[in-house]
Amino acid sequence: MTDAVRLAELLFPDVAKTPEDYEAMYPERDLPEGARVTRFAPSPTGFLHIGGLFAALIAKLTADTTGGAFFLRIEDTDKKREIEDGVSAILDGLNAFGIDVTEGVTGKDTEAGAYGPYQQSKRKDIYHCFAKQLVQNGMAYPCFCTAEELEELRAAQEKEGVNPGYYGKYAKWRDQPLETVEAELQKGTPYVLRFRSPGDPEKKVVFDDFIKGKIEMPENDIDIVLLKTDGIPTYHFAHCVDDHLMRTTHVVRGDEWISSVPTHIQLFKACGFRVPKFAHIAPIMKLDEGNKRKLSKRKDPEAAVSYYVEEGYPKESVLEYLLTLANSNFEDWRRANKTAPLSDFPFNLKKMSVSGALFDLAKLNDVSKNVISLMDADTVYHYTLQWAAENNQPFHDLLAANEDKAKAFLAIGRGGKKPRKDIGKWSEVPDYLSYLFDETYQSDYALPENISAGDAVSILESYAPIYDETDDNNTWFEKVKSLCEPLGFTPNVKEYKENPDAFKGHVGDVSTVIRIATTGRTNTPDLCTILQILGKDTVLARLDNAIRAWKS
Ligand code: GLU
Repeated sequence: MTDAVRLAELLFPDVAKTPEDYEAMYPERDLPEGARVTRFAPSPTGFLHIGGLFAALIAKLTADTTGGAFFLRIEDTDKKREIEDGVSAILDGLNAFGIDVTEGVTGKDTEAGAYGPYQQSKRKDIYHCFAKQLVQNGMAYPCFCTAEELEELRAAQEKEGVNPGYYGKYAKWRDQPLETVEAELQKGTPYVLRFRSPGDPEKKVVFDDFIKGKIEMPENDIDIVLLKTDGIPTYHFAHCVDDHLMRTTHVVRGDEWISSVPTHIQLFKACGFRVPKFAHIAPIMKLDEGNKRKLSKRKDPEAAVSYYVEEGYPKESVLEYLLTLANSNFEDWRRANKTAPLSDFPFNLKKMSVSGALFDLAKLNDVSKNVISLMDADTVYHYTLQWAAENNQPFHDLLAANEDKAKAFLAIGRGGKKPRKDIGKWSEVPDYLSYLFDETYQSDYALPENISAGDAVSILESYAPIYDETDDNNTWFEKVKSLCEPLGFTPNVKEYKENPDAFKGHVGDVSTVIRIATTGRTNTPDLCTILQILGKDTVLARLDNAIRAWKS
């Protein structure tokens, strides 16, 4: 028995399986040529960040567009940073935006798929098996340095003017004789397991990142920690073991990991694993007083995906907007394929922005108005009701009690070639519909400058007797036109423009007065339909109130 094999036995006496056992348990996936296997691997340390949702979407699209597989792995090796409902927060966030998890962690205590467990805290035996193999092969060793010793090392290195870290000749426990190591083990001295890095920083490692392109970096020579004193793996080691055994082909993750790739490549090779492909996503940025900065969990409410749920952005809008950030050709594709489902978009990982995409809420709102404009009234009603149930109970009750009215109103201007684009998010609907219900209607009798209160009264006094709630659009408009001449207005807009001094205003001004009197607004969808929906009693009462207000 070599010293390395003996050391491996001493460190991991309980490891019952061999790497071959695990290779057999988790065979290569049976997928068609070119299929990509990706994952989303968050730590349950807080709410789901929009950047996390973005990464998950990119990973999922990469899998979906190639007939591959996507799974959710929970990286919960840092118990100190974990929060109570971390897993639920992630799953709720993903679900709210239609990222279905069919493989991996599916609930607080549930999972699905043949490559689990998908929660790192449940994989300790697996990590130990591969750690043992590394020790056997002389690629890992225990290090008994205390925090103070490491601090002294750092100070000495600083004095010497060399790179800080545990490497080469500074790696005290790298080459200690077995007896010395055994003595410490017998004393029960706490230790970490370190990687014996084969790297030389004078040499370069080159890899092709799917998003960033060709990258060249010095080789890693740090003997990084693989297992912490409690036997729990570091991110680096867990990533390597998990992505190998879960047969990930493309590691899609945030670009804060890019500097670790030289270490990761060494680790994959030392374990005898094929190195996966990497795709590092730049963080989502925001323009703040002219400066580009990362979207911040602390400063920006829109960083949390719950913000979009509460504001009532449909999931389709958020996904659609994230796609405009992901692939710059998405908008052209959307213009050419107005109603195609998102899944038809030929997403391309290689077309991702190399530097951070700029997040713009105004743009999201525009995208969302477009998305909502293509929904039918029933869908808009249904989503709004759902949003209101969570976020605006009084409005929910009003909406539920007036379903037909609300749907009839929401149907105005929908379904045609150029649908109206009034609504960007469900939280705008209470205001959009407010004049439909007496409970929320607020009169506002302010008139445009060119119309006097006296004229407004005359218009309404002439209109009220001829108003008929059964009039169709044509008849309605003819009636409004018929009011014009006797009151000094013209039914002909062109005529007014040619000779404005000859008239008090034109037919548009006349209908504006009726609009203001009945809705409190100067701008609404088709007024004739609105009056039909409001019904005779409401319309006459509102005309009456307006006449009184303008008379006083
Ligand atoms: N758990 C890591 C993080 O939260 C995941 C990185 C990865 O996707 O590999 O950043």
